[in-house]
Amino acid sequence: MAKKQFKAESKRLLDLMINSIYTNKEIFLREIISNASDAIDKLCYLSLTDDSVGLNRDDFRIDIIPDKTSRTITVRDNGIGMTMSEAEQNLGIIAKSGSLQFKNEMEGETPEKEDLSIIGQFGVGFYSAFMVSDEVTVITRKFGETEGVRWNSKGTDGYTVSVCEKDTVGTDVIMHIKEDSDEEIYGSYLEVWKLKALVKKYSDYVRWPIKMDIEHQERFETGEKNDDGSPKYEYKMVTENETVNSMVPIWQRSKSEVTDDDCIAWYKEKNRDRKDPCALVRINAEGAVSYKAMLFVPGEQNENVFTGDNKGGITLYSNGVMIMEKCDKLVHEYFDFVKGVVDSPDLSLNISRELLQHDRQLRIIGQNLEKRIKGELEKLMREDRPKYEEFFKNFGVSLKAGVCDEYGRYKDFLKDLLIFWTAEDKQITLKEYVENMPESQKKIYYATADSLKRAISLPQCEEVRRRGYELIYLTNPLDEVVLTDYLREQDGKVFCNVVTDDLGFETDEEKKAAEERNIENKELLDFVKESVGERIAKVKLSDRLSNRPCALTTEGGISLEMERYFRYGPAENMRDVRATRVLELNPSHRAFEVLRDAYSAGEKDKAAKLAKILSTLAALAVGDEVEDPAEFADLVAELF
Ligand code: ADP
Repeated sequence: MAKKQFKAESKRLLDLMINSIYTNKEIFLREIISNASDAIDKLCYLSLTDDSVGLNRDDFRIDIIPDKTSRTITVRDNGIGMTMSEAEQNLGIIAKSGSLQFKNEMEGETPEKEDLSIIGQFGVGFYSAFMVSDEVTVITRKFGETEGVRWNSKGTDGYTVSVCEKDTVGTDVIMHIKEDSDEEIYGSYLEVWKLKALVKKYSDYVRWPIKMDIEHQERFETGEKNDDGSPKYEYKMVTENETVNSMVPIWQRSKSEVTDDDCIAWYKEKNRDRKDPCALVRINAEGAVSYKAMLFVPGEQNENVFTGDNKGGITLYSNGVMIMEKCDKLVHEYFDFVKGVVDSPDLSLNISRELLQHDRQLRIIGQNLEKRIKGELEKLMREDRPKYEEFFKNFGVSLKAGVCDEYGRYKDFLKDLLIFWTAEDKQITLKEYVENMPESQKKIYYATADSLKRAISLPQCEEVRRRGYELIYLTNPLDEVVLTDYLREQDGKVFCNVVTDDLGFETDEEKKAAEERNIENKELLDFVKESVGERIAKVKLSDRLSNRPCALTTEGGISLEMERYFRYGPAENMRDVRATRVLELNPSHRAFEVLRDAYSAGEKDKAAKLAKILSTLAALAVGDEVEDPAEFADLVAELF
């Protein structure tokens, strides 16, 4: 039979497995069992709606059969099985992101022992069989097929597949164990006690019974009597087929049996996540609706390199039987990063996605989960702010989008979870902001820019800071929408954009005086406006620029950030939306004096150039586009 070749990347991984210097070879069993368990999950799920499966829940099992004579371990399941093309597809390539990531990290390097430790952190699946075997045979029959498939490989030189006889649906993975070497006694994997210990260690929570023939001594009466009349016994070895795992899924076990660390280890293994989750919620609810839940907030965004999917997802079980993977109806989208399981005996097994949406019990569960997730995040925020900030960096955008969702329906639930920058190294909640406000402060001041540094250095912020007031710096166009369109206020305090809004610092008289001064200087200001071109809608004098000569601000609801967002954003009809730009000049700055003097002395050409320089400086300071950079360069050069 012709040998087929493995795909290049698979070959590489396989190579590593075969020649592995990795010490934790024993995980191969966990990987093979976990595949068997997944295959049973699939067929069991099918059996809920398809009577032709002909198996009840109790019929599913995984058998481990060691055979010292042939030096093989067979792991047998009565799960869904594989067709020939599935066997080729699934066993011929690396299927999962974890393995691929592993491969990428190894690329071009001689693997060191430490690097290889990551094998134990992700599953590497089927290939791990080659860490302990020199030949692997898979005999499988897919549910619905009449024939079986035999797949065989001795390692990197390829594999063969052929049709074969198989009486029952399911899969046998037959591993021929390597000869013992100086470093490793591979033969020990053929020992029943060793296999049993490995199942206990790695696969105890697998929901399906893992069965092995276990020999033990038993005492029999011989029928004869001792001199004192007591019965005579003999001892014989008997073999019994035993279930070696406890089978209770981890989430169904009590806190006294399973520590949080156990749950975290389970999560990392299941999700191929290298980082600890930043929050864990364990629920055992009894009452109107009974359920158990184990939820995790991931410690990082781990994108699946194949699907680009970085979403979390809660898997729904009914009494240990998976009924839906990634049930998106359980919690709202704003918590879409949460991963975990919910198991409720009250849920009907063959529930469909549509039905789920209207399921009352599910809604109650969902609401409770959300409360608990929120509670856990609040606790994290209180007790470990740096960790919360890390969480927010990863998933804060989901919460912000949630505030805007359904016309702000969830904003009150979510707003205390939002944090905002108030300094280069500090983020606070709006509640904290208001608590810190001095008596005299009436508004919540914020500044927007495309980077934190830029927002902080906006000239308009100085006036606010000078008064001892804090500012919130927003760097994402969504932030401003969240504040002004959805939240609107915090504890009765409204939001004030330091660039566009009335800061509320000036008295009525001061405002009047400023207005009059603009009127007095109208001719000059009109001249400036004409000189700087159409981009600027208005030119005015301003006292709030501290020691800066000028500033670019906007009027009306559209800020520069929003304009930029719309220009490159998804909504085509919004691309032409423009902010109304205002050039503010500082009348107490020397630059203004020079400009005014040139204008009064009739040096219009010079005055126009100065106006252009000032307006470009203002644009640069806020990161606005400079229309004609070459002209600006010339103008500045002329100053020398
Ligand atoms: P993973 O399990 O992470 O997808 P594996 O390399 O372990 O990666 O397995 C690849 C695929 O082979 C599985 O996703 C599954 O489709 C198939 N497979 C492996 N073992 C079995 C089995 N015992 N029964 C049915 N399908 C299996």
